[in-house]
Amino acid sequence: MAQKLGILGGTFNPVHYGHLAAAEEIRDRLKLDRVLFIPSFLPPHKHEEDVPSAAQRLEMVRLAIAGNPNFKLSDIEVRRGGKSYTIDTIEALLQQYPGTELSFITGLDSFLEIQTWKDWERLLSLCSFVVLSRPGYTFADLAKIGFMKQAEQDLRALDTGQVVQAVVGCGGFKVYLELIPFYEISSTDIRARVHGGRTIKYHLPETVEHYIIENKLYA
Ligand code: ATP
Ligand code: MG
Repeated sequence: MAQKLGILGGTFNPVHYGHLAAAEEIRDRLKLDRVLFIPSFLPPHKHEEDVPSAAQRLEMVRLAIAGNPNFKLSDIEVRRGGKSYTIDTIEALLQQYPGTELSFITGLDSFLEIQTWKDWERLLSLCSFVVLSRPGYTFADLAKIGFMKQAEQDLRALDTGQVVQAVVGCGGFKVYLELIPFYEISSTDIRARVHGGRTIKYHLPETVEHYIIENKLYA
């Protein structure tokens, strides 16, 4: 059987239990062999002032996933440099892992913007997508994306918790919609907490918390 590889891209500024728990849940549900964590070099949609270096964001992910043999870190976007477009990454991974099924995992907040991603239609034809619920966002909002409209009933059923999974297939696109246990954790909130001198314990692994303190990140 073909190997199944999940890909979780992000800024990971910093990585937290929302990322880790979601990736593990999806690995289990979709029977993925591995999940590859890919920190971006320059996220095309973000303009953050106090972004730690790419090397520091990579190191935090390395610390966070140590101990889970099914998780792997990739520095492909950091090595490539420049703006990190997912289409470039997926094309490179298809070459690197021939015969492997790729699933790109993204939170609902990110996927709602899919039509602004570079070559998004081609991207959706190259790999399947897995869209995770995230507190504050509703699946029903996806109906604004043309091909998702056909799934309106499923979108509502996910929002009300009647189902926890739906699959939308259209042309060469395949999108898995996954209602996962909510983790009300975000990197934005963690940065604000550190800045305000508040606790971040239990938001992320202790090793990452110590790294943030030792390197005076987000202070
Ligand atoms: P920021 O607040 O800086 O945007 P973030 O917490 O959203 O950070 P990202 O690095 O932007 O983290 O996230 C990478 C991917 O993981 C995105 O697709 C995002 O939607 C998803 N994600 C992050 N946190 C969660 C969560 N708690 N539940 C579900 N998906 C999440
Ligand atoms: Mg985000």
